Amino acid sequence: MKIQQIDVWQKDLPIAGPAYKMALQTLTALDTTLVRITTDSGLQGWGEVCPLGPAYQPQHAAGARAAIGEIAPHLLGENPLLAEQVNQRMHQALCGSLYAKSAIDMACWDLAGKAYNARVCDLLGGAAREVIPSYYAIGLSSPEQAAEVAVKKQAEGFRRLQLKVGGRTLEEDIACVRKVAENLQPGTALAVDANRGLNVNDAIQLSAACQDIRFIFEQPCQTYEQCLHLRGKLHHPLWLDEVIEDINSLLRAVRDNAAEGFGMKQSRIGGISQMRTAREICAVAGLPMTCDDSWGGDLVAASCVHLGATVSASLFAGTWIAAPYIDEHYDQQHPVTLTQGALQLPQGAGLGVTPDSVRLGAPAMTFCL
Ligand SMILES: [Mg+2]
Repeated sequence: MKIQQIDVWQKDLPIAGPAYKMALQTLTALDTTLVRITTDSGLQGWGEVCPLGPAYQPQHAAGARAAIGEIAPHLLGENPLLAEQVNQRMHQALCGSLYAKSAIDMACWDLAGKAYNARVCDLLGGAAREVIPSYYAIGLSSPEQAAEVAVKKQAEGFRRLQLKVGGRTLEEDIACVRKVAENLQPGTALAVDANRGLNVNDAIQLSAACQDIRFIFEQPCQTYEQCLHLRGKLHHPLWLDEVIEDINSLLRAVRDNAAEGFGMKQSRIGGISQMRTAREICAVAGLPMTCDDSWGGDLVAASCVHLGATVSASLFAGTWIAAPYIDEHYDQQHPVTLTQGALQLPQGAGLGVTPDSVRLGAPAMTFCL
């Protein structure tokens, strides 16, 4: 089997409801990139990468397409069933840009599933569960507003909440954590996520001020070294997210005993193939993980659900998807949706989601043999 054609689409994913506010940007739509690989046998596989705007991390949408444009000509004629070889070819063609490569890697896994008539989760070792717990991220807001969302989302079925902090006074953050904690039902887990927004001093003080509250403290500070500085000084388990940029940084964090868990984002570390490796490393180290991505439509969501399904129950902390914020699905018959705080594994071979290419319109780029 040979890759005969690679099509690349740009698409704006509109955000449902009010604009999505972050420390450095306000977003009303996300620029996503879809990739379709077509083989000489006619089989097709789909992939997607959707950075969270241009200011959240070094990854950005136009960069993804530029990188795919650089890589794609080198992949024509390759066997997409050999994902490892395809990844090697990608690394030979372009240094870095793991996020761009993740879309092609995803398309190869989707295609392999269709070729072998198996779901991606089955190719990854098999699903430990068919229904995947998700979690809800409560944005930066007042203590009362955050508590209101916490109550509402628990009523909808979420059993894990993530509360954003940082970018304001320490007192406001502490008040918000306390108010949300007061409104937690038994069995609801809480993650307090600063997305790198706290300095070392404030991270230590926030943990000390809330030491009677049970939560995990996610990516409090900007750099790996700052987070490492916190070891032994916190009253809460420390998780790393944004600073785990690839398998090497994950290995370093495990070696340094730098974290009690990881928020893993598939596109940041290079896709499904790399997430499989990360899953094994976390399992050997006995460290829990999430299977997420920064943003994305049905393809990214399906990929995260397939990955999440394969992580053992004792080490799996949930899969976040952007679906509640998006007004649109690529596959009207098989959308990936949240029900009562959980995600059903897509059925059907591969990812189980096939975008309607007619609705996508003309590709932005096409490469063919
Ligand atoms: Mg996070």
